[in-house]
Amino acid sequence: MKQFDTIVIGGGPAGLMAAIQASSRGERVLVVEKNASLGEKLLLSGRGRCNFTNGEEDIQAFLSRYGENGRFLHSAFSRFGPAQTLDFFHRHGVETVMERGKRVFPVPVGSGTGSQRVLDVLLRLCKKGDVRVFRSTAVKALKVRRLPGEGLARVERLITEREELEAGRYIIATGGRSYPKTGSTGDGYRFAQAAGHTIVPTYPALVPIKTRETWVKLAHGCNLRNVNLTALAGDKKLEGHFGEMEFTNFGVSGPIAMEMSSRVPDWMEAAKKAGLPEGSVQLSLDLKPALPREKLRARVAQDFQTSGSRPFSGALRKLVPGPLVPLILELSDVPHDKPVAYVSSEEIDELARILKDIRLTVNGLWSFNNAVVTRGGVCLKEVDPGTMRSRLCDNLYFAGEVLDLNGPSGGFNLQVCWSTGCVAGLGG
Ligand SMILES: Cc1cc2nc3c(=O)[nH]c(=O)nc-3n(C[C@H](O)[C@H](O)[C@H](O)COP(=O)(O)OP(=O)(O)OC[C@H]3O[C@@H](n4cnc5c(N)ncnc54)[C@H](O)[C@@H]3O)c2cc1C
Repeated sequence: MKQFDTIVIGGGPAGLMAAIQASSRGERVLVVEKNASLGEKLLLSGRGRCNFTNGEEDIQAFLSRYGENGRFLHSAFSRFGPAQTLDFFHRHGVETVMERGKRVFPVPVGSGTGSQRVLDVLLRLCKKGDVRVFRSTAVKALKVRRLPGEGLARVERLITEREELEAGRYIIATGGRSYPKTGSTGDGYRFAQAAGHTIVPTYPALVPIKTRETWVKLAHGCNLRNVNLTALAGDKKLEGHFGEMEFTNFGVSGPIAMEMSSRVPDWMEAAKKAGLPEGSVQLSLDLKPALPREKLRARVAQDFQTSGSRPFSGALRKLVPGPLVPLILELSDVPHDKPVAYVSSEEIDELARILKDIRLTVNGLWSFNNAVVTRGGVCLKEVDPGTMRSRLCDNLYFAGEVLDLNGPSGGFNLQVCWSTGCVAGLGG
């Protein structure tokens, strides 16, 4: 007799939710986790505060945040969506608070972080459901047998460094490739491929964008609020975002840049297909989106007139945050010590242009090491959306980031884990 009904590979949020739900059906469940502890990435989420879902109540609006693939989540959300997630954590003693952008966080208690609170609930429920956990145990492979005639396969057993394990069904919840130091090293893709699945190419997402211009490092760490960042391919506007961003040593980061990063591979691909020369995908940063260029120009001219002998660099401090001044000086041809009274009309024109349109050439993305999530993964067409069961391998299920699902920041990625984890755990 098999020792377990269900083996869950990976003890992150998706795997633990799946284990809890499977055990609630009376199944004998084992979680196999390669780290010494469970939920390492979950503990880092939201900088330890764990933005575990989003308070958006309109389900269609919620699903639209995952792009086209959001449709796949419809069925899982109708069984265990954001409202059920909130209810689940409330029922288990986690009070919550909703913040900017409807981000939902647990209220921390005592010295424990919000993330720890969420993890504690999951661990407590696993214990209550008699879920066995093998820690420090990496799954090496799945032994898959092709079933005659039906084009289907079946997982026969799972191979770890120490032993072979058997169960009625297997749930792959190994996460993606992002933040590999937390254990998500893309192993699940290999297991899925062994069972016949297609892996949609993976890219880092919610990650800083690299630019060709090296002068960005002059403003390294400078946090900008209320700016507009627009992506362009040649003359064509691709998309624009208003909000906060940050310069880094190699490009741009911060909420709006990270949000846009998920589409960078598409932009690069489309530009290539359109025959645009290299370097055509650019970002245009507008530091003064509330002011049309002419109005801004007039304001700068007036400001400079009243500032008299003040050096150009000093006058710039009134226009932009201090840490950005060296970068503006680099981009404009005006000497930093030139008294503003002597700054010419053409130089003011040029300054207004710079403030409205700092151009950056997109040069790629930073690596998976710094990506919050993975774009791509197990192809959704090969998974039943109502149960997360493989359409190719009859006792195999998927949950969490290993699937080709990713959303923006705001609690959308952990919601994928709760919904797909719950549905996969309940089986069907
Ligand atoms: C810094 C950071 C902050 C984040 N903040 C938020 C946030 O506030 N809100 C939000 O919605 N999302 C956030 N995310 C994203 C979110 O944490 C992930 O989407 C989520 O953790 C994915 O859960 P998962 O269970 O699918 O995979 P993971 O959390 O990656 O867990 C997978 C587990 O599987 C184990 N594993 C992998 N391979 C094997 C193997 N071969 N054998 C055994 N075990 C294996 C891993 O060790 C790991 O423990 C954040 C991500 C990062 C990196």
